[in-house]
Amino acid sequence: MINELKSRFRESYGANPSVITIAPGRVEVIGNHTDYNQGPVIGAAIDRSVMVALRRTEEPIFKFSSAGSAVVKIADPVKPQNGQASWINYPLGVYNALIRRGLEPEGGFEMSVESDVPSGAGLSSSAALELAAGKAMSEAYGVGLDSYNLALASREAENEFVGVPCGILDQGVSAFGKAGHLVYIDCRDFEFSTIPIGDEFSIWIFNTHKKHSLLESMYSKRHEECHEAVAQLKAAGLDITCLADVSPEQFEERKSALDSVVSKRAEHVIYEIDRVKRVQEYLKNGESAAVGKLLFASHASSRDQFGNSVEELDYLVKILESLPEVIGARLTGGGFGGAVMALAGEAFTASYAESVASAYRGMFGEAPEVIECHIADGVRVLESRLGAPSY
Ligand code: ADP
Ligand code: MG
Repeated sequence: MINELKSRFRESYGANPSVITIAPGRVEVIGNHTDYNQGPVIGAAIDRSVMVALRRTEEPIFKFSSAGSAVVKIADPVKPQNGQASWINYPLGVYNALIRRGLEPEGGFEMSVESDVPSGAGLSSSAALELAAGKAMSEAYGVGLDSYNLALASREAENEFVGVPCGILDQGVSAFGKAGHLVYIDCRDFEFSTIPIGDEFSIWIFNTHKKHSLLESMYSKRHEECHEAVAQLKAAGLDITCLADVSPEQFEERKSALDSVVSKRAEHVIYEIDRVKRVQEYLKNGESAAVGKLLFASHASSRDQFGNSVEELDYLVKILESLPEVIGARLTGGGFGGAVMALAGEAFTASYAESVASAYRGMFGEAPEVIECHIADGVRVLESRLGAPSY
């Protein structure tokens, strides 16, 4: 991939880049709808990534190229783009977020992007693009941002410049990922840590490409229901500000005071937060079978309590659960369609994945997209000629 990136950079701009960076896509391993309830979430950085090549220029023009798109040139980096060129809002948003963190906006730059993270498959190509671009700019402009600030700047870009209200999971995992480790994020105070899992595990994605037609309104409905659960639990005597403040025991004592739908939504989130914490403990003790059980339990709770699964995802999880080679599986991401992830050991091979896909095709007429991932490192510089004589 790096050779394609270098040659496209030269074709587009007639020069070599001064820095090349890489940032991985990510999988949400467990922690379903916990982020905006201030709970924790666990993710994995994967060996699908975005690479960015960059060179600063004296001329105050900003140029962007990516596979399959013409070179975009702009003079005003503060203005978001519409239409075909709107993909540049991700790196441009990061540029603006870095200016707020000390980048001196002098001259312009040339940027090329290469990626093998499928876009829109729930693997967060957008965060990988932001992190790789942010790292390249931070290096080239001598800002020297650490992973924490790069993650925050990237999320700010996506929330404010692109206009997607995502949580910190995508950028946090792409920033803090580590081979052989999962990333644990406490979404209340933005604490990031890694937990060893070992190199023998792989993560399989089964993307149904199904999408609920009312996806946006389903998400906001769940947000409202969680908000309402906090209000009703407060009315029932708890001194809390969010669902992450509520233990399962406190919930059990008061759940009869809640409306039935609100109670189911709260039960999912409160127990999911508890599952994330238990997964962290089990991982520390190397108890992968116990981790797997909690992944299946997470899915069952999405299906039965939170109502964010669909029959296609339920079917995939049911088949995966019947295979002893699979450690655990669940819907990954927001739900209402999308993808299932399976955590598996070396005994689970591509032929198993194919048999799952073909059973699914027999049921729903179309095979899911299958992506095998291994756990990888977070954002980093691949090559740098900064400080070297210009050429
Ligand atoms: P996801 O992050 O789940 O893959 P998003 O809709 O959040 O999906 O982000 C996908 C968008 O990110 C694309 O529509 C495009 O604008 C941008 N993007 C991702 N990868 C690339 C790339 N290699 N080149 C240009 N734009 C990209
Ligand atoms: Mg995204």
